[in-house]
Amino acid sequence: MLRCPKCARPLVKEEKRYVCEDGHSYDIAKEGYVNLILANQKHSRNPGDNDESLAARRIFLSKGYYQPLARHLASLVNELVPEKGSFLDRGCGTGYYLNWIINHVDKEIEYYAVDIARKGVAMTAKSNKNATCFVGSVFHLPLGDESLDGLMSVFTPYSGEEFARLIKPGGYVIAVNPGKDHLYQMKSIVYDSAYVNEEKGYDLPGFTLIRQENIRYEKTLETREDIDTLWRMTPYYHTTYSGNNDRLKQYDSIDTVIDFLVSVYRKEQ
Ligand SMILES: [Zn+2]
Repeated sequence: MLRCPKCARPLVKEEKRYVCEDGHSYDIAKEGYVNLILANQKHSRNPGDNDESLAARRIFLSKGYYQPLARHLASLVNELVPEKGSFLDRGCGTGYYLNWIINHVDKEIEYYAVDIARKGVAMTAKSNKNATCFVGSVFHLPLGDESLDGLMSVFTPYSGEEFARLIKPGGYVIAVNPGKDHLYQMKSIVYDSAYVNEEKGYDLPGFTLIRQENIRYEKTLETREDIDTLWRMTPYYHTTYSGNNDRLKQYDSIDTVIDFLVSVYRKEQ
């Protein structure tokens, strides 16, 4: 159940808004999501990924480049989240993975999705009518203590304290981080000397790492747009001299390894 970001009391859903006992009220947007971010929690007027990059990302993902990860996440949710349990997509982006999970997990689960980028949450809400989608800070979530059976955090900075607060004893955190070889061939075009990634899981007091595996495969990026969009989805794009980023523009297609490190943590009982 959602909580009021101002007073932490439960929010009750009405037809067109959420409201708490104290009378704080939050309108439901036409796409079906609610904005629960407070002005002091955002650092710009329209924080998160910009609209253009989200639209490009949605097209890229719809081509199936990351489908093996989506499939793996769905199988983990199916196995770990109990019938009638609750599950949060923390940093939902365009909602691609959540959509895959909802369509492939045959369980009654209460799904939540949050991102700081309003446009991404709108996309997620539009394609996932049964999920409760809200704009919010992933570090201060308007959800009750020990209210979740699980959450997933895909390429989103983590917060051990917030995970410990939110997850029920025995519940799960599913984390996706770059694997060692992720996009190595792209990096070797951009950088004069490319390094493999250091594989880093999370440091989560109160949780035990119960499983860790790589989802690793080769793909051909088939168009200039796909190459450009994928590179912009990475943290490298913003930290690289633009002349180096431009090296990718000489390619019509690139064969690259895609490598995700998927870690599952269980909260101690
Ligand atoms: Zn309130």
